[in-house]
Amino acid sequence: MSGKSSASPKKKEKPKVFQGEGLDTPIMFCPGVGPQRAKLFEKMGILTVRDLLWHIPRGFEDFHTRTPIRNLIPGQVTTVLGKVTFYQPRIPRNLSKVRHIFNVTIEDHSGSMQVVWFNQPFLEGKIRNGLHLLLHGKAELYDHYIQMSNPKLKIVEEEHAGAAEFMPVYPLTQGLTHTIIKKVVQHAFERFQSYLQEFLPPFILADNRFPTRTETFRILHTPQPGEGAPTDIELSEADLLQQKLFETQNRQSPSVWRTARNRLIFEEFFLHQLILRRYRAKVKKLDGISHIPPSPDPLSDIISSPLDPSTPSHWPAIFLQNLPFQFTEDQYKVCREIQEELCSPAPMNRLLHGDVGSGKTVVSLYAMLVAAAGGYQAALMAPTEILAQQHAASIRRLTACIPSINVVVLTGSVTAKESREILQAVACGSAHIVIGTHALFQERVNFARLGLVVVDEQHKFGVAQRQHLMEKGDHPDLLVTTATPIPRTLSLTLFGDMDNSVIRTLPPGRPPIVTRWTTWENERKIWEFVDQKIEAGQQAYVVCPIIEPSENAPQLPSTEEAFERLSQTFLPHRRVEILHGRHSANMKSDVMEKMRAGEIDVVVATTVIEVGVDLPNAAIIVILGADRFGLAQLHQLRGRVGRGTQKSFCILVTPAMISPFAEQRMKVLEQTRDGFKIAEEDLKLRGPGEYFGTRQSGHLKFRIGDPFEDAGLLREAYEAADRLHKTDPNLIQTEHEALKEELRRVLASHEFNRPS
Ligand code: ADP
Ligand code: MG
Repeated sequence: MSGKSSASPKKKEKPKVFQGEGLDTPIMFCPGVGPQRAKLFEKMGILTVRDLLWHIPRGFEDFHTRTPIRNLIPGQVTTVLGKVTFYQPRIPRNLSKVRHIFNVTIEDHSGSMQVVWFNQPFLEGKIRNGLHLLLHGKAELYDHYIQMSNPKLKIVEEEHAGAAEFMPVYPLTQGLTHTIIKKVVQHAFERFQSYLQEFLPPFILADNRFPTRTETFRILHTPQPGEGAPTDIELSEADLLQQKLFETQNRQSPSVWRTARNRLIFEEFFLHQLILRRYRAKVKKLDGISHIPPSPDPLSDIISSPLDPSTPSHWPAIFLQNLPFQFTEDQYKVCREIQEELCSPAPMNRLLHGDVGSGKTVVSLYAMLVAAAGGYQAALMAPTEILAQQHAASIRRLTACIPSINVVVLTGSVTAKESREILQAVACGSAHIVIGTHALFQERVNFARLGLVVVDEQHKFGVAQRQHLMEKGDHPDLLVTTATPIPRTLSLTLFGDMDNSVIRTLPPGRPPIVTRWTTWENERKIWEFVDQKIEAGQQAYVVCPIIEPSENAPQLPSTEEAFERLSQTFLPHRRVEILHGRHSANMKSDVMEKMRAGEIDVVVATTVIEVGVDLPNAAIIVILGADRFGLAQLHQLRGRVGRGTQKSFCILVTPAMISPFAEQRMKVLEQTRDGFKIAEEDLKLRGPGEYFGTRQSGHLKFRIGDPFEDAGLLREAYEAADRLHKTDPNLIQTEHEALKEELRRVLASHEFNRPS
């Protein structure tokens, strides 16, 4: 037998067909994909045919409408494709602003032309004879010759150069080219298109001029001329947005391509709305836990008799009495809302909004103590292990006045022995408060009497997980906190299944953060100011939008450049460090530790400093290229300072010329520190370059829709779901059968909770 098996060839043959073929067929069974390639696709999160078809190109290179060089007219803005026949970099000798000139000659079948780039030295080493360049810019006459100066540039894969079509630009990974993806998508589309059945109700299709589902994917992946596929050759997300914004402002009806994209976004939002509705209705019918109100009740009783830490019902009152500060009005109000609902029989399903530092954690701790006082366990789930540890430390500090409270932490880093003991304490009920990451809800964790779950910063905690949790045990109450201010209009539609509590005001005594917007011309003054503050014993953050200088956007400040300028030119006598996403986790915590210990004066960083850093002595943040960030993100970045007792500064630096949108953003930040106001403004002002919506921030994972960018579609989906709910809430009509089926599928998958 063994002889026989060794004789058979070892080559891994993939089976030709897959049982139960459909959109959920694994990517490996797509024509043109084998086990090796499947791995590459999987790296991009593409596991199934569905994932592949939903992998929508960011835009297209337009090989259709390029102009032959001979036909160029001076003054015309157009696209040209040609091969490099000559190139020469030059450093001009005179003292003009031009530091570098790069001359190139290209030719196509019809003629040749000059191209010149100023101050883009990184082009050296990129451009060689024989390369094909796609250029977009204005043709002009110079010295009797036709030329383009500083055109947008794209170096084209050789194999595309002859094509006369739209080449999709897909998000890529190492080892997969656009050509490969394009072919695989095409094959998959041909083979699987029959599974793209319509499920939107007829009334929606009648209201919107949506293409059919099959047609939608055809348009999105292989648009034809005239269908308005986005073809700006820079193809930044900001450009796509600009186009969208332009269309909306000019009340243009969206192009065929965009309508197709809108259809997919609408589908996604619509299904999400239906799920929220069903879920809400279901939860309201469940029997949950009626927690026992604390006695005395510190929220309404005047406490006269002595309190005893060994009497559980006294815990909430003891906690409030021993807090090193007074709750704010908002904190009291929210505690009342929560306590009332805890003590009522329906399960709580509540979202607690409040800016960073507004005191949400202490409020959730109060709720946990109410649960614990009544004999239930409370669990706190944090997004990362570091934050779980941080919570554990501060909760232990704040409950030190109640020695009999048992707080345990369950994370990956405890030893097997410790972990056994902790699990034991959780299972027998001796642990009152259990803190951890999502590992808290693994199979092996059994709670004796789980009564309240607090999810801190709702990352990765979508509707399906909420439902899953609610179905655990006796339907524990759920409190989800979020520090990303979400405008009310959005929160209604995004978290329609949840009730809302809001802490609007910060606790008193927070130091002011002076925010000033300035331009590059004042660079010297900015660093002089930073230098003075360092002299006075403070530390500074300098934030840049990118890590290293970019050829696509030479004007963007990068950490590498800023680091060099500061450590060599402006602050050579200070201790400057650099920190960005390419550094290891160790290196990051190392730099932050040194910062904490006062061994560093300035950290030049990308937005990595956004997460979980709390350094009271850092009182200045300088944000370079501030126009490149969205309002919400700038607000979050600014929140890194003003954590100690000193007056803090946030300096926003931009080029002198920025878009009116960017200008508005800078002004809003100068004028307000109120996260909710900023979020409302953000929704109004969203424009080019602002792509830091909730999709990216990991709050809710939609495949293509972004609740901020596509707020209009979200609203429409909300209204359509309403309408459907009024006529056929249980989807029993035959025309809603396909929808019911799709809904069942989405509920069984984890479509709205894709890990980031
Ligand atoms: P959040 O979770 O909303 O970011 P925390 O609950 O962690 O905020 O509170 C931030 C800091 O402010 C903590 O050090 C906390 O002890 C403190 N704090 C909370 N509420 C108050 C208050 N009413 N007065 C003064 N300090 C407060
Ligand atoms: Mg918190």
